[in-house]
Amino acid sequence: MKKLFSVCSIFLLVGLLIAAPAAWANEDTPDYQTTVNPGFSVVDKTYDHFETEIYEMDTAANNMLISVDAIKSKSCLFRSYARFRYAQTGIWTKYMAFDSEYHFSAVNTVSAYQLMFVVRDPMKGTTTIPRFTVQGVYIDEKTMEYAMQEPAPFEPIKVTTKPALLSRKDWGARPPKSSYSEHAVQRLVVHHSYIPNQSQYKAAASIRGIQNYHMDDPKTGWADIGYHFLIGPEGTIYQGRPETVVGAHASPNTNAVGICLIGDYDPDKDPIPPVMEKSLVSLLSWLCSNYRVNPGVNIFGHCDYSTKSCPGLEVYKRLPQYREQIIKNIGQK
Ligand SMILES: [Zn+2]
Repeated sequence: MKKLFSVCSIFLLVGLLIAAPAAWANEDTPDYQTTVNPGFSVVDKTYDHFETEIYEMDTAANNMLISVDAIKSKSCLFRSYARFRYAQTGIWTKYMAFDSEYHFSAVNTVSAYQLMFVVRDPMKGTTTIPRFTVQGVYIDEKTMEYAMQEPAPFEPIKVTTKPALLSRKDWGARPPKSSYSEHAVQRLVVHHSYIPNQSQYKAAASIRGIQNYHMDDPKTGWADIGYHFLIGPEGTIYQGRPETVVGAHASPNTNAVGICLIGDYDPDKDPIPPVMEKSLVSLLSWLCSNYRVNPGVNIFGHCDYSTKSCPGLEVYKRLPQYREQIIKNIGQK
């Protein structure tokens, strides 16, 4: 009986290993990446703060994503701060406050950064910061200038209905680690998950897997799932982060909404299901009309900002026809 049990456990273990992909989704490959244990904890104090050393970067970047993991006491008021030094002028930005995830984008590159953590705790509990993660991505100046400028006004003739979404509660999302940063919706960026592909997709369990990876992997450690929306091959639309807050999917993330199609849409991989395309076009139509985003110029593939093939060449080739359908759906004054 015991032997049978252990044989069963081995099968179960092997089964689990096969079922769980080694990695999830294909985010930016950062030009700079580090995960640090700052060795900061506050015990039995009402106030303490900690300033890290100045970290010099081996490669310059103009998009920085900082994620801080803090194990906070219940009564703790916690604040993180980050500042950056411009490569060309040597001038530092001021310290900018955040909870657990901060996005910094500029046309000019930065070559160093420094963090600070502040803890106020009237009940004198224990707060520890076991790690923070810093990712830096370089994007050429022209792309950055376009991404950071205010878009020209766009007026649709009608606002289409919001498509039915599977809420965070319905797919069993974890709460975010902290509050988000708000942004204005100006650009829509389409991705594919790559992993899981269609045969690995297990409905809500896969969405939870992507969220766990984004929040727990030491190389990301983000506050929540990176995408704002995910669409399954069967057409289900999952709500990720609210679209009104900054996500983590394609630098520069500020003002960009990330939509991830589950599957691998590079040539000779998964087919593009018409039902998934229908969900994508209705979601994009609603986003464009509700937030006044011009579908002709502000719908992108991740590969417009990255050397990755994301959202897969087959989907990327169809973006012009999606844009046309969206313009037909919402019109333009
Ligand atoms: Zn992508």
